Amino acid sequence: MFYKRLEQRAVKKYNNLMKKNDEFELEITGIGKDGEGIGHFDGMTFFVPGALPGDTIRAAVTKLKKTYGYARVLSILSPSPDRVEPPCPVSARCGGCSLMNLSYKAQLRMKEDTVEDDLVRIGGFDRALIEKIKEPIIGMTDPMRYRNKAQIPVGMMPDGRIVTGFYARHSHRIIEPDPSVGCLIGAPENQEITHAIKSWMYENKLRAYDEATQKGLIRHILIRHGVHTGQVMVCLVINGKSIPAIDSLVERLTVACPDITSICININKNTGNVILGERTECIWGEPVITDKVGDITFDISAKSFFQVNPVQMEKLYSKALEYADLKGEENVYDLYSGIGTISLFLAKRAGHVTGVEVVPDAVKDAVRNAKLNGFSNTNFYTGKTEDVLPKLVAQGRPADVIVLDPPRKGAEKSVLETILSVSPSRIVYVSCDPATLSRDLAILCEDGTYELKKYTPVDQFPESVHVETVVLLSRA
Ligand code: SAH
Repeated sequence: MFYKRLEQRAVKKYNNLMKKNDEFELEITGIGKDGEGIGHFDGMTFFVPGALPGDTIRAAVTKLKKTYGYARVLSILSPSPDRVEPPCPVSARCGGCSLMNLSYKAQLRMKEDTVEDDLVRIGGFDRALIEKIKEPIIGMTDPMRYRNKAQIPVGMMPDGRIVTGFYARHSHRIIEPDPSVGCLIGAPENQEITHAIKSWMYENKLRAYDEATQKGLIRHILIRHGVHTGQVMVCLVINGKSIPAIDSLVERLTVACPDITSICININKNTGNVILGERTECIWGEPVITDKVGDITFDISAKSFFQVNPVQMEKLYSKALEYADLKGEENVYDLYSGIGTISLFLAKRAGHVTGVEVVPDAVKDAVRNAKLNGFSNTNFYTGKTEDVLPKLVAQGRPADVIVLDPPRKGAEKSVLETILSVSPSRIVYVSCDPATLSRDLAILCEDGTYELKKYTPVDQFPESVHVETVVLLSRA
């Protein structure tokens, strides 16, 4: 004990001597939530962007805290066997694809480990149980060009050159994609579309929005692709009420990309990071695009939440449907239902589906989508799940199965308690954050009424650290 304390004191003293730019050799043994490598050096934990588990690097300190620090890679002394040459030349600087230097196989393994570790560490589940019930991650055959949506910031250089691209990690500096390939996880047409908008801006002397001065008109370009229908929507997010020279914009865009069926503007005069403002106006074509998930058709407006990876979305929803194990008569709740994507998947096999969603426009889309596909066994309620669900339960609406798909922060504790009070046979939890999922599952399984039966991670976001998970809980 005495020696341990002496040693700790020595390490602390040594670390206090460490300073910015100090160089040292570091073996990377783990990976952090943002895809950064993690290594330990003399009692300190170091986070190193761009380094991978299995790398040994020469590092330089960039920032020091009491027990941890940040470093940058000076050189790779011995590379991880999972390291690959990233296909995108700007991936090391761009914030979009923090794992592009890791082989896809290793990315999938890392995501499986993240979910498993969070279930054990945060959820308190037994590792042996997790090993027994987990299903393998569902990955993509081709993890490139998968996104059906791009939100491209528009900026201006001091010399007046307009730039479009993606934000650098933890910053609003715009990184332009390599002009020969564009963004490799987005649609190739996005390049022609942004090029047409830039030419129109130059022609009409329009300025890009500047966050510092809050001046300039064009903020973002939102592009959505209906991958099954081929339809394309372009929406310009503007810091103003309208745009000039609409005819010339329409002409340029429809020549650059003949698949465009909808051109909109979205008005956002707010400061801050939220990309879209309240109001969207269609200036040409239709206000929505249509796409399909399985055999169900969806109208999607500029502001609706729609999963960005259509190939994986179908696999994710099919897994949720499999776990729900519907026989045709069940009453089902779909909480956090968005535009009703999961609800309609479930409605094919259920007696009745009740959706709850906070965004009024999404609920309107859900109602329209149910009608469009001829469903008469669905109802959608607008409001927060934590407010609406207790009211529906008080009305005596039963539920055999409850599906929930909350945003990253997970479900409110009161929602989980209400779900438990309804006592459905099965709970299917779809989550985009394994940490909050694990926290919520611990609450749902606390008193032993529900058992964790199965779970499957689904890779919705190749090249990034994010992972989606579908979980089945059954009443014991
Ligand atoms: N299940 C849908 C949407 C999932 S995303 C799909 O797969 O497409 C999460 C959704 O929860 C979003 O539509 C968001 O608007 C909604 N949401 C966020 N907080 C909410 C709350 N407190 N109550 C109800 N819905 C909420």
